[in-house]
Amino acid sequence: MGKKILIIAEKRQGQLKNVTLEALTAARKIASSDITVGIIGEANQGMIETLRKYGTQNVCRFAGQDLNTSNPDVAFHILLKLIETADPDIVLFGHSLMGKETVPRLASRLKMGLVSDVTKVDVNDDGIFLTRPIYSGKAYETVKPLSKKLVVTLRPNNIRAIPASRPAKAEITDLSIEAPDMRIHILRSNERNKDTVDLTEAKIIVAGGRGVQRAEGFKLLKALADRLGGAVGASRAACDAGYCDYALQIGQTGKVVTPDIYIACGISGAIQHLAGMSHSKRIIAINKDPDAPIFDVADYGFVGDLYDIIPKLVDKLSKPTTV
Ligand SMILES: Cc1cc2nc3c(=O)[nH]c(=O)nc-3n(C[C@H](O)[C@H](O)[C@H](O)COP(=O)(O)OP(=O)(O)OC[C@H]3O[C@@H](n4cnc5c(N)ncnc54)[C@H](O)[C@@H]3O)c2cc1C
Repeated sequence: MGKKILIIAEKRQGQLKNVTLEALTAARKIASSDITVGIIGEANQGMIETLRKYGTQNVCRFAGQDLNTSNPDVAFHILLKLIETADPDIVLFGHSLMGKETVPRLASRLKMGLVSDVTKVDVNDDGIFLTRPIYSGKAYETVKPLSKKLVVTLRPNNIRAIPASRPAKAEITDLSIEAPDMRIHILRSNERNKDTVDLTEAKIIVAGGRGVQRAEGFKLLKALADRLGGAVGASRAACDAGYCDYALQIGQTGKVVTPDIYIACGISGAIQHLAGMSHSKRIIAINKDPDAPIFDVADYGFVGDLYDIIPKLVDKLSKPTTV
């Protein structure tokens, strides 16, 4: 198909986010060569090796500069320069906070088409087809973009990241940019939940609802999540009740997640909560009400008190399995 593709890399705690590798897998489907990855800030040798492994030909790096991309003005200016320099046919972003915040502005400024929150990329002789959920996940649509230049955001955890059959060159070009005149100045930022797994990228999520009944109950959920290498999430009712931080909220007005396993504990399954998690690959519900709507979407269910069930699961997972 011969399209020129630029992927905007995202990092967390010195590692590339998985959505960047998922984007590289999608990019190889669209164009077997001419894939550039743009990285803002530090890009260590480990990251470059991973990019090579996933088929990156070029890396554009804004290295050694103290540019705070949590400021949307800064992110916009750097990304604008990056896209103008690389001049791609398609730009791929993660459907992350940065993607959601900057992409509409970039697409509008650069007069590029935009398809957001894509969960599947198909390519055939008739072109590129992008599938995405609509109406809060109640239906899917598949679109064929008609614009010559296109920006796409990919929902994390939907395209399986697969290394290329052979590593690419990943040749590095260092770019520089003056800090723009900003309308927003960030004075201070505190990273919360720094040591926890990123909810949108987590493969396993243990989520608690109003049924958890108290903030301490979330420690039990965390113990289960830790045993499974997963993250803790919550319903809005649990956040509103002050049992946990709003950063954990999943749903229509919270985060949208697609983990391999979603364990809903004391969550009724309101439509606004389902909007954020119903596309999880496997849903396990723990609820004492056998008629709770969450069981309609669950693959497996425990009917009972979460304070009886979860400690048993934690205990079981703490012991080595015997064959
Ligand atoms: C515009 C709008 C946007 C919204 N956005 C969101 C959103 O993004 N995310 C979201 O989650 N909600 C959202 N909501 C709120 C949503 O409608 C529900 O009120 C909320 O999801 C309910 O949360 P819950 O399931 O934790 O609580 P509840 O509906 O009260 O359910 C609690 C469940 O816990 C069970 N339970 C109680 N005790 C135990 C126990 N000991 N063991 C096991 N089970 C137990 C009960 O049987 C019950 O099913 C939104 C609402 C509106 C109007």
